[in-house]
Amino acid sequence: MGTTLTLLAVAIAVGLLYRGRGYAAWSLGAATALLAWLVAGVQSPWLFGLVALTAGAAAWVFGREELRRRLVSARAMPIVARLLPRLGATERVALKAGTVWWDGDLFSGQPDWRKLLAFSPRRLSPAERAFLDGPVEKLCEMLDDWEIQQAGDLPLEVWEFLKQQRFFGMIIPEEHGGLGFSAIAHSAVVTKIASRSITAAVTVMVPNSLGPAELLLHYGTDAQKRHYLPRLANGEEIPCFALTGPEAGSDAAATQSVGIVTRGKFEGEEVLGMRLDWRKRYITLGPISTVIGLAFRLRDPDHLLGDEEDLGITCALIPSSLPGIEIGSRHDPLGVPFQNGPNQGHDVFVPLDFIVGGRDMAGEGWRMLMESLAAGRSISLPALSVGGAELAARVVSAYGMVREQFDTPIGRFEGIEEPLARIGGLTYMMNAARELTAGAVDAGEKPAVLSAVAKAYLTEGMRTVVSNAMDIRAGAAICRGPRNILARAYVAAPIGITVEGANILTRSMIIYGQGAIRCHPFALEEIEAVGSGDLARFDRAFFGHVNFVFSSAARSLVLGLSNGRVARASVPGPAAPWFGRLTRMSAAFALVSDACMATLGGQLKRREKITGRLADVLAWTYLASAALKRFCDDGQPTRDQPFVEWACAHALFECQQALAGVLDNLPSRAAAWALRPLVFPLGKRLRPPSDRQGSAVARALLDDATAREALTAHIFQPPAEEPGLGRLEAALTKAVAALGVESKIRDAVRAGQLDRAPGDVLADRALEAGIIDAEERKRIHDADDARAEVIQVDTFSPEAFTALRR
Ligand SMILES: Cc1cc2nc3c(=O)[nH]c(=O)nc-3n(C[C@H](O)[C@H](O)[C@H](O)COP(=O)(O)OP(=O)(O)OC[C@H]3O[C@@H](n4cnc5c(N)ncnc54)[C@H](O)[C@@H]3O)c2cc1C
Repeated sequence: MGTTLTLLAVAIAVGLLYRGRGYAAWSLGAATALLAWLVAGVQSPWLFGLVALTAGAAAWVFGREELRRRLVSARAMPIVARLLPRLGATERVALKAGTVWWDGDLFSGQPDWRKLLAFSPRRLSPAERAFLDGPVEKLCEMLDDWEIQQAGDLPLEVWEFLKQQRFFGMIIPEEHGGLGFSAIAHSAVVTKIASRSITAAVTVMVPNSLGPAELLLHYGTDAQKRHYLPRLANGEEIPCFALTGPEAGSDAAATQSVGIVTRGKFEGEEVLGMRLDWRKRYITLGPISTVIGLAFRLRDPDHLLGDEEDLGITCALIPSSLPGIEIGSRHDPLGVPFQNGPNQGHDVFVPLDFIVGGRDMAGEGWRMLMESLAAGRSISLPALSVGGAELAARVVSAYGMVREQFDTPIGRFEGIEEPLARIGGLTYMMNAARELTAGAVDAGEKPAVLSAVAKAYLTEGMRTVVSNAMDIRAGAAICRGPRNILARAYVAAPIGITVEGANILTRSMIIYGQGAIRCHPFALEEIEAVGSGDLARFDRAFFGHVNFVFSSAARSLVLGLSNGRVARASVPGPAAPWFGRLTRMSAAFALVSDACMATLGGQLKRREKITGRLADVLAWTYLASAALKRFCDDGQPTRDQPFVEWACAHALFECQQALAGVLDNLPSRAAAWALRPLVFPLGKRLRPPSDRQGSAVARALLDDATAREALTAHIFQPPAEEPGLGRLEAALTKAVAALGVESKIRDAVRAGQLDRAPGDVLADRALEAGIIDAEERKRIHDADDARAEVIQVDTFSPEAFTALRR
């Protein structure tokens, strides 16, 4: 008793002397008391007192800013300077670009759930809704993806329709002739088109993503806006954006495309301009573009613009018709025939006015790209991925009921429930993240880190979902033809993984590398304070950081012991426990992340297996928080509960595995040893979604029409007579209508009123025996006919087969 009271007194004294805020002060006190007890032992009260007194004195110094600055911070600053990562010029620009939003909360270890739940994303306006129900619906009706693939391009009338309805001007404001849509509307349009044709979705997506229109809107001169924006909006100009070259893929800033400032003649007039040489590849819409948004390195060897010779990455708009430009060749991106190809320019002279924003923006290209990337990356590929995932969910949930083997709909087999659960849970979470991220953009954010999360994890999500759907469809998914609508999404999945920053690099370098510095409450401040040599600023940031580490450690321990139960629930209802569990992960993440930064310092940048796992934790906490937000915004409907439970359990398990992976592989074994009891005080107790949770998702997909409808509400629903999804849906309706009759017959067999017999014979006997009536017999007949039709796959004559475009 006496010992406990002494320890408590020491803890309180040290906490008070430190004067830090909240957890930090008390955990420092507790740690000191514990240390004193461990080092000195209660048997040696003098030594115990000495250790406690020393700690108290240190805490007193730490608690007084003036003293602390002189005695501690002045010495710590050069040490920290050595530990901090060295940032290149392009990295520094990337770090400044965009904004920190919910990612900041997740990084803080104390996400403010009330703030997230109070956030009200913009809804579709009446005009946007009318566009989705009108031109987008019509476009989807016009698209026949199998024909598009065979023709190697969109039909002419589709190109005309896209231009006429201003699909290429969704982000261009109405005053410049565009549609002026919100991010959520833009995203909804791409999702719906993607469920119909990836080729069409990419074609619509690219002019509305990072490219000439986006760059002009933010940085263009008035003259450039007046000239280009109306033409881009109505499709008179087809834009492409050319950054990637053979030598510069992921490392785009290493471009060898160059412009030399010089005098020359343009349209008969002598002007100051640039002589350009470039070789680009993989450029979407490039082969048919009329204007190229070109990124190149601008040099001024004759100092015509000033003292600097290397002005840096610059973006200009170059008409494709100029002499010296070669355009038109196409790549074949996995057989998905959107327009994509290389282009090059040799000795192309243009005036300096062609630089986006005019000559003052020479060398500002990298900043422009980094600032603009966050918006486009938040929308295009996440929307496309959700289109693919919802399509897959819709197809397999119908097929699971319609396709029978061993006299049973295949969806009833437990083996099939497993992939169905992954499809349902991931699709729900992916759409929630799509809506939340687009909502952030509509609220004025440029979420640099979260847009990268959405891009990387939703494209990967689509790959997983479609791949699982392929396994459920089995042979019907393998044989290609107009009926097989999944194979096209399956083949296209790696394209999303690769473009707009390939996922491997995005995971380690952008989400964590950038996130760690950008979203961390103190890291950027410390870097800047060290960079400017500002001791007072460094002292505040450094001790803020120290407080933060103690706070995260204490929170991680307490929340870990209770599996998040002690965190305040943000809402009542079935969602409530998940908030606490996610808070726990966030606290553990904050702690482990700091430990990695402290022990690895500047080296952490290169330890991509560590940073990749940390990115996983940030990403899965974001995805799960999006799922919870969507669930709560919808009023926690029972219909969606299985999806949310599966999604949260899955995300939390992924977080646990990622954190455990970091601890297992952290080079500093002492740090890993110290962290483990704080992160997993009761061991790794989280489990992946249980069989029961998985079955509930499968049941919701197969048996709950409203849940299935809500889950896949954002895709195009083809007419009932169309091969593929149309006929499958019609067959499902008929199969469901016959379910009651089939169970009547089964009951009669079980009761001995009917002998067992194959399907048709049994139904006829049931009719003869008066167990079912003629109308019920017809229902079974219609369901069987529809089933027989939708299980067919396409076949081709030898001549037609040879002529197929693959
Ligand atoms: C169909 C298609 C359309 C495209 N459209 C356009 C377009 O319109 N405009 C445009 O400018 N570009 C476009 N691109 C280019 C695209 O952005 C690049 O392909 C992408 O940036 C990757 O470059 P890369 O293919 O050269 O791969 P590489 O840079 O060679 O990378 C190979 C692998 O290494 C990984 N990697 C590279 N560096 C690191 C690192 N530091 N850490 C960890 N991993 C790393 C990458 O993640 C990748 O997995 C398109 C590409 C494709 C395939």
